[in-house]
Amino acid sequence: MKKQPYLGNSVHTIAVLKSYGISARKKYGQNFLIDESVLQAAVDAAGVTEDDCVLEIGPGIGTLTQYLAYAAGKVCAVEIDRSLLPILEDTLMGWSNVRVINADVLKLDLRELVMEENAGRPVKVVANLPYYITTPIIMQLFESGAPIKSMTVMVQKEVADRMQAKPGTKDYGALTLAVSYYADPSIVRIVHPSSFLPQPGVDSAVIHLERHEKPPVEVKDEKILMDLIRASFNQRRKKLTNGITNYAGFSYTKEQAEQAVADAGLDPQVRGEQLTLEQFAAIADRLAMY
Ligand code: SAM
Repeated sequence: MKKQPYLGNSVHTIAVLKSYGISARKKYGQNFLIDESVLQAAVDAAGVTEDDCVLEIGPGIGTLTQYLAYAAGKVCAVEIDRSLLPILEDTLMGWSNVRVINADVLKLDLRELVMEENAGRPVKVVANLPYYITTPIIMQLFESGAPIKSMTVMVQKEVADRMQAKPGTKDYGALTLAVSYYADPSIVRIVHPSSFLPQPGVDSAVIHLERHEKPPVEVKDEKILMDLIRASFNQRRKKLTNGITNYAGFSYTKEQAEQAVADAGLDPQVRGEQLTLEQFAAIADRLAMY
């Protein structure tokens, strides 16, 4: 029988922080969960079972990690804050299926990690993400090419709204398009600041991103598509062709940009925020020919 999680209760969280004489570090986006129903909801939405290997980003003092270790076959948790390691050793004692890695997730080779941890089979990502780098982490997870079955993550509610926005709305942007290329998003639950210690200044949401087996559009080069999306929303109010020529990661000329947009059957004055994923894919494929 596995040990039951106990850290979701604020009394335990406060006791752990006190006994180690530490407080949450703002610079690492530390807001610890103290709501058992939210923790269980995240694990349930991810559908974690004994057959799963779960990748957790930012275990903190090990709260969500305990729930994951209880439900999963294996958990690999990546934590940047070295000062939390002795705490994690303590709070995760009794669950032998957890490996904690002290690293910055943005600097890790996630493909290699998943290869090592789960022999290249898809993992499930479950995490209460640090809000100051939510989007880079999500993009890194998708773009790393690591086999990921799904991501069930706590993010700011505003970010969750952006992930499932419709074209033409103010929330529609690079994140919406990238997420829709890789996954099918669904908000699991809105979470009030009082579910965390310390409380964040905003509402949060647990969002589940189920990875598509096959992306909704086919492109010659996925990197060009993602860069094109970034380029166009870097300068949201400008013409897409300017976005393309001004983007540091591209070296297309003005003529090439205009030709690619025209060949996709679009007005040369068009702005990125007016385009669908299919239209971005058509332009990306045209750019891939240069
Ligand atoms: N999982 C814990 C919980 O739910 O109570 C803590 C979540 S807290 C919102 C975010 C965690 O991510 C913190 O433990 C923080 O130190 C960690 N973190 C921040 N930046 C990171 C990075 N670049 N790589 C890995 N972990 C990071």
